[in-house]
Amino acid sequence: MTAAPPTRTGAAAPVEEGTVTVTVDQDRCCGAGQCVRNAPEVFDQRDEDGVVVLLDARPPAELRSAVEDAVAACPAGAIRLAED
Ligand code: SF4
Repeated sequence: MTAAPPTRTGAAAPVEEGTVTVTVDQDRCCGAGQCVRNAPEVFDQRDEDGVVVLLDARPPAELRSAVEDAVAACPAGAIRLAED
């Protein structure tokens, strides 16, 4: 009996590790809500006008992918990430 060769699983694209600092520009935000949809732990929207509210400027590393998705989905370019 031979052992199975090691296999690699998961997506081909590398997943970034580590944490980032998140900033939002409320003046640019158009209230589309894509950020909240992608990362509700990090973003919320004001009840009165839907403008983004940053809940966690230093989200844990496990939320990085979701935050990056939020950046990509934001139609206003209102979210910025800075490497820690
Ligand atoms: S996705 Fe962008 S435009 Fe939409 S609420 Fe979030 S920050 Fe604002």
